[in-house]
Amino acid sequence: MAHSAPHHHNVAIIGSGPAGHTAAIYLGRADMKPVMFEGMMANGFAPGGQLTTTTDVENYPGFPEGVLGGELMDKMRAQSVRCGTVIETETITKLDLSSRPFKLWREGSENKSQPTDTASAVVFATGASARRMHLPGEDKYWQNGISACAVCDGAVPIFRNKPLVVVGGGDSAAEESIYLTKYGSRVHVLVRRDVLRASKVMAQRLLKHPKITVHFNTVATEAKGDGNLLTSVATRNTKTSEPGEIAAGGLFYAIGHDPATSLIKDQVNLDEDGYVKVVPGSSETSVKGLFACGDVVDKRYRQAVTSAGTGCMAALDAERYLTELQEEQR
Ligand code: FAD
Repeated sequence: MAHSAPHHHNVAIIGSGPAGHTAAIYLGRADMKPVMFEGMMANGFAPGGQLTTTTDVENYPGFPEGVLGGELMDKMRAQSVRCGTVIETETITKLDLSSRPFKLWREGSENKSQPTDTASAVVFATGASARRMHLPGEDKYWQNGISACAVCDGAVPIFRNKPLVVVGGGDSAAEESIYLTKYGSRVHVLVRRDVLRASKVMAQRLLKHPKITVHFNTVATEAKGDGNLLTSVATRNTKTSEPGEIAAGGLFYAIGHDPATSLIKDQVNLDEDGYVKVVPGSSETSVKGLFACGDVVDKRYRQAVTSAGTGCMAALDAERYLTELQEEQR
């Protein structure tokens, strides 16, 4: 899309998951005239974000029967538009936060000196993605036995009273494994090395749990199934190379997430894992006027409702900032 002069916006929201849409609903209702760049398969996700890749969402309040992830995001989008947000189906590929207003470039124009858009404030809600292993069989059984979120999917009937496999040796893997013991008949944890990376307390809890078996020096090599659902996980011992197989109705990856922060990585304070650092209890980042929310700031909870919650905080913080800015300019 070619522009002669950049479009100026009061506030631009980058990202279209529950965080971005909640910010859009609040900013629209506050008459802040927000624009949202919802992305075109940005970071590998369709507009609407991670929930567009799942089926039933059973833990988002207000839907006693559950709701399909795609349907929930369609509803959020419609609410954003109804409240006055202009939505552009484009990805922002360059962001310059070094001067005011902030400069934004839409995909395809990132090599031009002039930005396509400018904004007085930016809500950064680009999300994160769970790391995958790219095992043979993974694409076939993704969401049909394979998941990267125990809290989201553990209660799904296909996992009930079945042996389950968790891959990972850190705190998240330990926490998710313990959580899964509520549903599975047994939880097998595959740890690549001969030690757990998890904290001492978590490691102890994992090793002592009567329903958990920890397999050290073991990696998953293939997801196997009956054509519809996962039925077992092939393994290999990293020391002896001996192959193995564990019968399993579920395979959960707990090997980390990648926050989508490449746009801002040299401009804003990030933590050691690349998540945007915010002032605790707010959405304020190290750059005044840039507010961050959702999974891009959160490596702990990573839920739709917590993302929506921080999206609300970002909108209220941005609104206050813009009001102060207008007062200063008067
Ligand atoms: P995301 O949902 O990650 O969305 C970010 C969006 O921004 C994406 O569409 C992306 O394309 C876009 N974007 C990124 N960069 C740019 C850019 N530069 N320009 C424009 N757009 C951009 N949570 C629950 O509470 N309950 C569940 O049942 C549940 N199930 C899940 C099932 C799966 C398979 C997955 C993967 C996650 C699930 N989650 C669930 C977690 C939940 O989806 C996330 O916590 C939530 O979506 C995070 O919201 P977000 O707004 O931070 O960003």
